[in-house]
Formats: sequence, C-alpha cells, structure tokens
Amino acid sequence: MTDATKPESEVITRFAPSPTGHLHVGGARTALFSWALARAMGGRFLVRIEDTDQARSSMEAVEGLLEDLHWLGMDWDEGPALGEVGGDPRGIGPFFQSERTDRYDTAIQQLLERDLAYPAFETPEELDALRAEAQREKRNFRYLRPDGWDRDAALERWQAGEPCVIRFRMPRSDVTVEDAILGSVPFEAEQLDDFVLRKRDGFPTYHLAVVVDDEQMGVSHVLRGQEHLNNTPKHMALQHALGYRVPVFGHLPVIQNADGSKMSKRDKDKTARAFTKEAGVDPVTLPIESDRLARWLGDKRGQLETSELDALAAALGLVLPEITVEDFRRGGYLPEVVVNFLALLGWSPGEKLEDGRDLERFDPGFLAERFSLDRVGRSNARFDRAKLLAFNQETIGAMDEDAFAARWSGWLRRYAPAAVSTELDVPLFLRATRPRSRTLADPTAPDGPGAFALSSDEGFGYDDKAVTKWLAKGDPSGFVRLAELRQTVAEIEPFSPDAIEASIASWCEAREIGMGKAAQPLRVAVTGSAASPALGDTLAILGRESVLARIDRCLGEQA
Ligand code: GLU
Repeated sequence: MTDATKPESEVITRFAPSPTGHLHVGGARTALFSWALARAMGGRFLVRIEDTDQARSSMEAVEGLLEDLHWLGMDWDEGPALGEVGGDPRGIGPFFQSERTDRYDTAIQQLLERDLAYPAFETPEELDALRAEAQREKRNFRYLRPDGWDRDAALERWQAGEPCVIRFRMPRSDVTVEDAILGSVPFEAEQLDDFVLRKRDGFPTYHLAVVVDDEQMGVSHVLRGQEHLNNTPKHMALQHALGYRVPVFGHLPVIQNADGSKMSKRDKDKTARAFTKEAGVDPVTLPIESDRLARWLGDKRGQLETSELDALAAALGLVLPEITVEDFRRGGYLPEVVVNFLALLGWSPGEKLEDGRDLERFDPGFLAERFSLDRVGRSNARFDRAKLLAFNQETIGAMDEDAFAARWSGWLRRYAPAAVSTELDVPLFLRATRPRSRTLADPTAPDGPGAFALSSDEGFGYDDKAVTKWLAKGDPSGFVRLAELRQTVAEIEPFSPDAIEASIASWCEAREIGMGKAAQPLRVAVTGSAASPALGDTLAILGRESVLARIDRCLGEQA
C-alpha cells in the first residue's frame, strides 16, 4: 500500500526520458509535474537517462532533452551536468542506465538465486509462433513458466552460454495499484505474465532498470504518463520480490488534440501527408526518395524521420503542428507561458479570480509553491492551441519594451539570424509589430506584421482587393492622391513617425478629407496591403528613399 498523503521521508521525484528524440509535450508535462512536486514539497528532482535501447539512443538527443528542460526552467538537483545544473551530491549516480548494468546484473542474480527469475530459451521465432497461435485462438498471449519446469537443466543450459532471456516469475495473484491520481486500479492475475528482465543482448529491460534505479536513487514519487499504467503492477511485483520500497505512483492524464486523438509526433506525419496528397506536387521535386515517399503516403500510420519531415515541410512551404519543446521554442513561445500551459494539462490551482473565472495564469514560481497531486485530474487533457497562443500574446503584450526586445533578439539570434538587415531601426520595428504579434516569431514571419519592412522594394506583391478599393476607386482616385502625396512625403523633415503623422494629417485637413483617404493608399503602396502598423511607424521604418521607391513602383502598376 502506498499513501500519497504521507510520504515517509523526503520527496524525491525523477524524470527518466529515453533519449531517442526531442522532448515532446507529454514528456515535458511529466517532467514539469515531477519538478513542481519536488519543489512544492521541499524535496529533490533528479534526471536519469534511460538509454538501455542503445540502437535508438543518442548523445545528441540527451543534450537536446537537457537543454529543453533547462530552457523551461526545470532545473534538476541531481543528474547529468549541464553548466551549474545537475551533479551527484548524494553519490547515487551514474545517471545513464547504460553505465549501471552491473547493478541490474546484481538484482537479477538475487532473483535467480531465489528462483524468482529464470532463463527462458525460446527463440524470437518460437515466440512469434506462440503469439500467432494465441491470436488464432483469440486469446491474449501470456508467457508463463510451464508446470514441471526443470530448474537444474535450465540453469545448466544457461551456464553453458546458450542464448536466452531472463524472465521474472510473476506471482499468480491479483494486484491493485493505489494510484495517487487514479485511485485504486485493480489488475487480475490473468492479465499479467512472466515478463523479461534481461534481453538476449544482455541489456536489462526497462522494467528491471527502472525499478532498480528508483530504489537506489531513493525515488519516493513516480509520476509518468498513463501509457505506463499497465507496467506498474509488474514494477510493484518486482519491488516486492527485491525487498524494495514501493514509491507513490501517479499516472498523468492523456494529452489529446482538439479532435480527441492522442497528441503525438504522428500528427506531423498526418498533416504533411494530407498536404502532400492535396497539393498534387510532382514527387520528383520533393526531398525524399520516391519509393519511400510513396510507401509513407500510402500508409496511414507511416512515420518519417524528423529531419525528413522538416525538409518536406520546407519544400512545400508548410508549417507542421508543434509537438516538441523545440518546436514551440522555434515557434516563438515563451518558456514561462509553455510551463503555465503545460501545468493546466491535468492540474489546476483551484482558485477563482474576483470575476468568478478560474485562475489560469501563473508563473513557474507559483506552480513550484502550490503544486499538489490531489489537484491533478483523471480525465483526458485537451491541448488547446488557440489558448496557448492567447496566453503567449497576452504575455508578450504585457512586457516592457526592453524585456520584449531582449527576448525577441535571443529568439532571432537562434532561429532567424539573417532575417533583418543591420539598417533596420529595431526599436521602432518592434514597437510597430508587437501589438499584432502573438509569438516572438511573428514580427519577422513571412505573413507577419513586419514582413513589409523585411522585403526589398520590389520583393512584395500587391493585394488586388486592396488596390481596387484604395487606389483604383474614388474621385479623385487613390492613385491620383498617391501621386500628390509623393511630393509631400519627399519633403517631410525629419522623417520620423510623429512628423510623418503630423504632415499627412495637415495634408488631409487642407483638403477636408479623412485621414484614411491618404493613409490607405499610402499603406497599400508601401506594404502591398491595407493592414499595417501605424502609418507614421510604417513609413519611418522603411525610410524616405524606400517609401518613394515603393510609391513609384505602385504608380507604375496603374497601367
Ligand atoms: N523511459 C521511460 C519513458 O520515457 C520512463 C518511464 C517511467 O517514468 O517510468 O517513457
């Protein structure tokens, strides 16, 4: 029995990623809840790298995961070192499972000696045949040690070096997981089998490694996604067999897309596949070998590598849904907003604002103080992208100018260092674009509020509707007004936002016309569209020379 409310000693939580790729939303949420629980309880948070699947693990992925965690502000007290973060003050390392195999061997040895584990010699082909037979007979395949099994003979074969796996003798009894979030979850003995502890290649399975490490690292609370719930009775049985403590378990709700599907990397494949089919492009022009592309297009569950998906998206001019922390970072989301949003995927502070709405906006410090497992819900959590964007926009809007400029510059250096020229008046550009930016990426986005300023004078197109409405129509037409305004614009001194606004305003006053009659033709002429930041800012950002060149270009379009 575990009791979530009475931890016997210090709260020690862990995040135990398998380094096979970028940290995705689900993993980040697990890390966040583990971090927040440790902080709220005055405990420790550690990071352990589960790299027993050597073929799929990489050092690059480890570095990426650690960097993502650090960017989100979830610093770990123990674990792989990253600058000041991490380290091994209690001497519980190493933190890479691939460096801990002797510990797993010792645990296996103990179980073998007590006949709680045993070697099993079926080849993968034989196991496949047994599985196929179970499928034909419409029953679940379970591996159980046969009655009358000859221990001495098996140990002899094992000592002779015959290839085998080591299996755990799962007790033939029902198990109830007391989950701090889900409550009691019963598992019947019939659902459980003699699972593998050590693979044929000598590496431990996840089940063994996780149980040994959680014990040796003193982990008191295991928080993880609900996809691991079925593993927990196995882990508990192993803990009992090895005389270990059973930590508090908490299985976190599933994160879903708006359509109710489980959010996963596959969503990128889904989006890219649908777009590729619809776009009807010639496969030869795409950066993926054509047979591979055809197979992927024809297989609803097929997945490309992340790098292939990125290349494909770039070739198609397609934006893929953000799934990993790196996606959100590149997309211009702020880490404190991502943390706030991730926290709400299952947790709520349970407080009301004065107007009766739920308190939803908080900073990581609030979470680190208030987080508790009893406010984690059981039901699936919807990933509401519009809400995340709204949070981000709100936070961007509330920053002071310097803070925004610093955050934006950091983003720009990392993701779009060549997007702006050295001549751009950055403070003015940011003042003008921030009110219409939802992310740090928006000011320089190709369809964003600052795109006009980043294009060459010849490089942007005109929106036909805007041209018709604001330039072609009217008496005198917008074109005629634009030609007159050119003269005024050429003489404004200094060419600053205030002077520009004042001079256009007096030009309108003299003609007894509204400001829009001048502003809109000018906007369309210099940006291609009728929507841009304030007119004075728009023209000042471009500079006089560019404004005149654009007006001339636009007047030339009349013909
Ligand atoms: N390495 C496992 C994973 O990434 C960790 C599971 C656990 O927390 O026990 O899913």
